[in-house]
Amino acid sequence: MLTDHQILRIPGPTPIPPSVQRAMNLPMIGHRGEETSELLKRIHPRLKPIFGTEQEVLILAGSGTAGLETAVVNTTQAGDEVLVLVTGSFGDRFAKICETYQLKIHRLDVPWGDAVDPEQVNAYLQNHPSIKVVFATYCETSTGVLNPIQEIASAIQSASDALFIVDGVSCIGGVKAKMDEWGIDILVTGSQKAFMLPTGLAFVAASERAWKVIEENPQPRFYLDLRKYRDNLAKYTTPFTPALSLLFGLEQALNLLETEGLENVYKRHQLMMEMTREACQALDLPLLTADDTASPTVTAIYPEDFEADQLRKVLKTEFGLSFAGGQNHLKGKIFRIGHMGYCTPADVLQFISLLELGLQQIGVKRDFGKGTIAAQTIYLERRK
Ligand SMILES: *Cc1c(COP(=O)(O)O)cnc(C)c1O
Repeated sequence: MLTDHQILRIPGPTPIPPSVQRAMNLPMIGHRGEETSELLKRIHPRLKPIFGTEQEVLILAGSGTAGLETAVVNTTQAGDEVLVLVTGSFGDRFAKICETYQLKIHRLDVPWGDAVDPEQVNAYLQNHPSIKVVFATYCETSTGVLNPIQEIASAIQSASDALFIVDGVSCIGGVKAKMDEWGIDILVTGSQKAFMLPTGLAFVAASERAWKVIEENPQPRFYLDLRKYRDNLAKYTTPFTPALSLLFGLEQALNLLETEGLENVYKRHQLMMEMTREACQALDLPLLTADDTASPTVTAIYPEDFEADQLRKVLKTEFGLSFAGGQNHLKGKIFRIGHMGYCTPADVLQFISLLELGLQQIGVKRDFGKGTIAAQTIYLERRK
């Protein structure tokens, strides 16, 4: 096998477009100089449409979890009552961060593979008026569920004044977000998923309501203090040394997103999801999520007649194709396909056809080519 040819189809990190890779190779510049200010000035306004906000989208050097922790430490203090909507391992991570900061946690757990029911959130908040913050995951990467964030936001608003904080790490840039219109108070994402960059940038935007809470929150914080990032950005600078190479890459990634047009980017993700799901159905591969809550960025498959990890192993060894495995109780039970960021319908046809070969290789009886035909058919029906 040509070892340099790797096909990375996991839900992050995702492949990097060549032009973004080249941009990241630009020579280093001084982080307090004019060039950095100009770079920040060019980048920041262009993040707003992706978040659907008029607020500044702040950038921290750190992985996505740094963004989640930032949201927690800036808005809460020990003893605060919060509600965490847990649909999988990333909802669980939010709960763990809250636990670390000694918040009083209410959990609303749904079975892995299901989405949050907004009605249930509404009822829970009506019965627990002292809850100050609600945490949710937009795309639950461990299951491939896209939670109905807009509906959850309205359900919260009609029951309480709690802030709504959303982890959008595995979908922002690949699915629509209307932070201001929907009423999300803090939206977080990271660079290594739909943004087509390596790990290392966390993006955090806060609503006016959230800023009031952040300003008044006595909780100590230093590196993750959002006020520092906001106040520095007003002067087109950063409180600490920014991850400059990643910012060079970000500027080019934004060029790509804008050239394609955000609406087209979202349509491409939707199409890739439909192609993937139809192909799986044609191959009798059970999907973990229902059609109406499936994420355009990641698909989880729950095979009944073979070992998910055996298939993953063959695909990796023979073709350099990586699918992700399951987490927690789904470890070894499912495999997950990332189709976000630098990924097109052409890539879907590639991984579906390789998946069919892999099934053949491990002795799973399926009609050869049926998945590929299904994906091709969807492409012809849905493009444009
Ligand atoms: C990837 C991911 C994160 C961030 O994980 P890091 O490893 O810290 O980058 C957070 N939430 C979700 C939903 C994710 O998919």
